[in-house]
Amino acid sequence: MAASMASQAVARGLRAATSKHLLLDKCKCTQLNPRRWLNLQEYQSKKLMQESGVAVQRFYVADTASEALEAAKRLNAKEIVLKAQILAGGRGKGVFDSGLKGGVHLTKDPAVVGELANKMLGFNLTTKQTPKDGVKVKTHRLKTHFQVMVAEALDISRETYFAILMDRACNGPVMVGSPQGGMDIEEVAAKSPELIFKEVIDIFEGVRDDQALRMAANLGFKGPLERQAADQIKRLYDLFLKVDATQVEVNPLGETPEGQVVCFDAKINFDDNAEFRQKAVFAMDDMTESDPTETEAAKWDLKYIGMDGNIACFVNGAGLAMATCDIIDLHGGKPANFLDLGGGVKERQVYEAFKLLTADPKVEAILVNIFGGIVNCAIIANGITKACRELELKVPLVVRLEGTNVHEAKRILSESGLPITAADDLDDAAKKAVAAIKK
Ligand code: ADP
Ligand code: MG
Repeated sequence: MAASMASQAVARGLRAATSKHLLLDKCKCTQLNPRRWLNLQEYQSKKLMQESGVAVQRFYVADTASEALEAAKRLNAKEIVLKAQILAGGRGKGVFDSGLKGGVHLTKDPAVVGELANKMLGFNLTTKQTPKDGVKVKTHRLKTHFQVMVAEALDISRETYFAILMDRACNGPVMVGSPQGGMDIEEVAAKSPELIFKEVIDIFEGVRDDQALRMAANLGFKGPLERQAADQIKRLYDLFLKVDATQVEVNPLGETPEGQVVCFDAKINFDDNAEFRQKAVFAMDDMTESDPTETEAAKWDLKYIGMDGNIACFVNGAGLAMATCDIIDLHGGKPANFLDLGGGVKERQVYEAFKLLTADPKVEAILVNIFGGIVNCAIIANGITKACRELELKVPLVVRLEGTNVHEAKRILSESGLPITAADDLDDAAKKAVAAIKK
């Protein structure tokens, strides 16, 4: 229940990581994916791939129909593929609110490219990974935001799935692949888990030749294609390391009738902690599709995830966030969002956190559930009282603090004269928050 809510929230509006789900399907465990702050469009990921010698088809990017047409002519290819650039997957089977079906279109006639682009640019594309109203394919010209990709289409005789990702269970990178890739990979994983292959990589050793060849064979590449695919796999791993990725996903990794192995789609996620040494990659960041609240939260080093209930949750750590979600759910309530404070907290951050939480009109109660390990509870208490006074808090506030300096924190709260409901433990806090709304 809460796990699915949280993962829904995490997947919302993002080009979600199928590979993570493929692994989780196998592990039968649930996990709250950390929010990824850096999201790149497909064409940006493909630029990085090109730089690492990975095989991608020739492409241009365009943000007007006439530019798209121009690009199609310049490609001078047998067939052209036009791909909407949004930060969500499942585009192939998506629908535009212009009526156009499919965010990926193939045509042999470059003249049609302009018409297609006209039905894509400026319209919302809804896919199984977007919110139900879809995501707008933008037309405004910003330096890095061109929104349709015009590429050389190739015949694809077979579509496979390949990804490399950091996996907690394996303490390092893992390759995941399937000979039946393409747009129905989730179904393959659910119905035929035996068609999902895994290969654990030793981070000190890298991908060994035998591993790359075994994966290539498992993906169904035969004869000379097996070596070619193994070579692509190794290049993708080099890229994975070079850009500090947490995931490189290629679906489809395809085979052409002419005997080429090509990466037809790309999704890369990055380790946010590596920003200091990946300046060029992070400079490409496309924040235009991010939830403005999430972006504002990030400025204060806070992680915000919006959901659709009415209880705002202010917590520290993803684990506590999940537990808080679950217990609210158990007592019949629904989280509106959660804001993760992390460690090393300053009073100002607590204040900003409250500002963000109360800005959401759905919120009818706030539940604070902070465990002070590194965090000093007194700082939290001071932040809370200051925020309550300055923001003239209008919704009930239930606070459960535990850990470092908690006695001082409780004193600050009780002497504040503010209508704050104190709770003894998480269960008590959740009950009181749900009850506060029912009143
Ligand atoms: P998404 O994963 O968002 O649906 P893809 O980039 O994987 O988008 O494209 C969807 C499908 O379109 C692919 O599975 C493939 O069959 C087809 N396709 C994508 N790029 C090309 C291309 N360059 N040439 C031919 N077919 C393509
Ligand atoms: Mg794809």
